[in-house]
Amino acid sequence: MSNILEAHTISKKFGEFTALNKVSIQVPKGSIFGLLGPNGAGKTTLIRIINQITVPDQGHVILDGEPLQNHHIQDIGYLPEERGLYKSMKVGEQALYLAQLKGLSKSEAKKRLHFWFDRLEIGDWWNKKIQELSKGMAQKIQFVVTVLHQPKLLIFDEPFSGFDPINANLIKDEILRLRDEGATVIFSTHRMESIEELCDHIALINKSNKILDGKLTDIKRQFKSNTYEIGIKTHEVEALHKEIATSFNVSPAQFKTIDEQLKLNVRLNESQRPNDLLSYLTTKGEVSHFVELLPSTNDIFIKAVKNNS
Ligand code: ADP
Ligand code: MG
Repeated sequence: MSNILEAHTISKKFGEFTALNKVSIQVPKGSIFGLLGPNGAGKTTLIRIINQITVPDQGHVILDGEPLQNHHIQDIGYLPEERGLYKSMKVGEQALYLAQLKGLSKSEAKKRLHFWFDRLEIGDWWNKKIQELSKGMAQKIQFVVTVLHQPKLLIFDEPFSGFDPINANLIKDEILRLRDEGATVIFSTHRMESIEELCDHIALINKSNKILDGKLTDIKRQFKSNTYEIGIKTHEVEALHKEIATSFNVSPAQFKTIDEQLKLNVRLNESQRPNDLLSYLTTKGEVSHFVELLPSTNDIFIKAVKNNS
């Protein structure tokens, strides 16, 4: 798979402060790429460099095989972190204006906007003033304007901040749909937990350094701890717990159940296989739950930071 975007050893200082230290990323075509890291890590700085708003001190960017240049602005749909709309303009009027700035004709812009407004069920906002909208509502309008000209690369800086869970989900679904329709998506977030089901590739940035990147499934495999969450139906919870602990490394598990049962996290050692555990458990009672515990992105981030310091 070829890369739609490559950033090579990008460095950026603001005065004496290093915001990015030789950060490189490769974004495969057709992927959803998560740029993750805490506040102040350097995510927005990198995104602004890719969008030619900030000039890097060092390094270069390749877009679809070419060194980044002015005309590439048309190929990128960019939702900035600081989102401003003209407060006194009406929603439809403003969306039409912004869409035309992206090179769409007025009639084409109108057609596409109506399509999107219907899809997001916000048709009745058309004649409202921006100042009448909540932050989340205004953000929806900006999301639409960002994707309207169907750029091949979409970059959303913290797209979920400002949204309630329902709207955040709606935007998540739209991002997946845009990817399925052929776009590549890069988005940043400081909320590590919210991206599991969305990203196929990630880069973790911490204090201006990239500390980890790659395919999310590969990274999860690399960081997994061979731990299984198990549930076993029994009236002898205490006794069975003790017994299992003589053969396996166990700790309490937290998952919801309706029946009385023993719930444990079992960490296998080098010589133990999941099937050994499962066969053992079936001799002790009815196994109702057996799931491999994969590390969350947050766990991975914490480990990666530790390994790096
Ligand atoms: P993130 O998006 O990961 O939260 P940013 O890229 O916005 O982080 O910022 C990284 C660091 O660079 C922060 O400490 C921020 O204060 C600093 N920074 C960003 N832009 C500027 C600027 N224009 N001038 C001075 N410092 C800046
Ligand atoms: Mg930011």
